[in-house]
Amino acid sequence: MNAAKRAEKAHKVYAIESGTVIDHIPHPMALKVVEILGVKQDGILTVGMNFPSQRLGRKDIVKVENLKLTAQVTDRLALVAPTATINIIEGSRVVEKRPIHVPKTFRGLLRCPNPNCITNIESVSTHFVREGSESEPAVRCTYCERLYREPAQLVV
Ligand SMILES: [Zn+2]
Repeated sequence: MNAAKRAEKAHKVYAIESGTVIDHIPHPMALKVVEILGVKQDGILTVGMNFPSQRLGRKDIVKVENLKLTAQVTDRLALVAPTATINIIEGSRVVEKRPIHVPKTFRGLLRCPNPNCITNIESVSTHFVREGSESEPAVRCTYCERLYREPAQLVV
């Protein structure tokens, strides 16, 4: 199947008039993505898991009607799905396509797993700095200086 045919097939499965399609989510992170997005908004939410992907082997796709991702949400998704592609749909067409940008720092987005970290003892907002590549990010707590290689686990 050529690329155009594949795209057409994916479009048929996920056709929406307006909203956001989050593609190239590493499997099986789709449900974590949904959890972060929240499902309180009106509109159809579709979760597709375990699609074949040349780039990732297996990928998940989340489609949310009438949703515009804020920067704060994108920052959270970045650690759960750094490979994700954001497609903004209007009038049944892709009007914007962008990769997720993994920020250099995260303030108040993550919880430090270290029970002795001051962020778990006093009401201090957490602050993490990214290390490693955007596709395989690790994060370091700037308070206790511990490095975490599974930052998706730290998203609150
Ligand atoms: Zn810490």
